[in-house]
Amino acid sequence: MDLIYTPEQNAFRKEVRAWLAANIPAKPLASFDTQEGFEQHRAWEKTLAKGNWGMVTWPKEYGGRGCNLIEWLIFEEEYYRASAPLRVNQNGIFLLGPTLMEYGTPAQKERFITKMASGEEMWAQGWSEPGAGSDLAAIRSKAIRQGDEYVLNGQKVWSTRAVFADWVFCIFRTDPASERHHGLSFIFVPLNAPGVTVRPIPQLDGLPGFAEIFFDDVRVPVENRLGDEGQGWNIAMSTAGFERGLMLRSPARFQETAKRLVKLYREHSNDILDLSIEDAVVKCYMDAEAYALSTYQTASRLMKGGKIGSESSVNKIFWSELDQLMHETAMNILGWRAELWPQSPAAGDVGHWLDGFLFAQSGPIYAGTNEIQRNIIAERLLGMPRK
Ligand SMILES: Cc1cc2nc3c(=O)[nH]c(=O)nc-3n(C[C@H](O)[C@H](O)[C@H](O)COP(=O)(O)OP(=O)(O)OC[C@H]3O[C@@H](n4cnc5c(N)ncnc54)[C@H](O)[C@@H]3O)c2cc1C
Repeated sequence: MDLIYTPEQNAFRKEVRAWLAANIPAKPLASFDTQEGFEQHRAWEKTLAKGNWGMVTWPKEYGGRGCNLIEWLIFEEEYYRASAPLRVNQNGIFLLGPTLMEYGTPAQKERFITKMASGEEMWAQGWSEPGAGSDLAAIRSKAIRQGDEYVLNGQKVWSTRAVFADWVFCIFRTDPASERHHGLSFIFVPLNAPGVTVRPIPQLDGLPGFAEIFFDDVRVPVENRLGDEGQGWNIAMSTAGFERGLMLRSPARFQETAKRLVKLYREHSNDILDLSIEDAVVKCYMDAEAYALSTYQTASRLMKGGKIGSESSVNKIFWSELDQLMHETAMNILGWRAELWPQSPAAGDVGHWLDGFLFAQSGPIYAGTNEIQRNIIAERLLGMPRK
């Protein structure tokens, strides 16, 4: 791994920085967990796509720039440094996009990738069910083939921003006699199809960021299936790899939070009596830097043909617990002000930290809970016996 950037990489960084400075919306966007904010973020995705910055690692024919992973890390560093808007179509761009490139037919790639890249179609992920979360193989929602169509029945839950999205990618049981990870298929469903009901679920902050989705005799064409019938589990595991691996949470996100935490500490250092807070600030900063260095190392390895595998579970635990510690430490520094409503006159930047604190609580749950990641590490990396 070479820690010195090449002249081309430095030039790329300059280009990203200049484009972001010229294009980032002047006013912060509303939360993407509201209809208004969702549409504002969609408009931002369209702006990114017009400049070919939507997903820089994608091939040029899909609106990307064919960048390698080091260039992607540089892009991310500039993106977070500039406080650019959060990525509303992350389910599409970070998860489904790479899965489609690997498993999609030429017709599916042409139909779905371009509209995803351009921000025209936003995607939700429909995997979890009331009885199938960590134990995803317990999925019961069914897709029964009738001629050239599948008839869908069942329920999904915790589907992020499905209230506002256009499409959902799901896993259904296509062989009703099958059990566990056999007989499952990966299917795309337009959320405005007859028989689909999307019911919002409020998050901790009260906004409708989640939804449950009900399917009552919904009909979709067989062409909406990704991969072969019964191959759904393997495809889903490959998507999950993208989710836990490098792309979903780049180190820049945490490095920027760590820098803000140091700034917050400096602003309040005269009021802080508890020395453990200082230790926590130092730990957060060092861990964010360590995660960045470790990611550069992984990226270099992947660029030489290596694979990420179960190591992505280690990453997922590391960034989600670091995010929690950073926000808890910020709450401790803010002290009594952390109890204020963000709209209160004395709150200052409390709202921003509080939002982050609430969201950080979900990090150890989504993309596979940290308990499950620890099981994977124990069995596959440490070679411990299955219980
Ligand atoms: C912010 C957020 C966004 C999400 N977005 C989506 C989405 O867009 N689409 C989607 O499909 N889902 C989404 N989810 C759902 C998420 O994938 C599930 O919540 C997660 O997989 C856990 O499933 P569960 O909630 O059913 O909990 P359960 O599986 O019931 O687990 C409950 C507890 O038991 C523990 N546990 C379970 N099994 C084991 C075991 N074998 N060993 C040790 N501990 C165990 C878990 O770690 C957890 O602490 C989202 C969740 C969150 C928090």
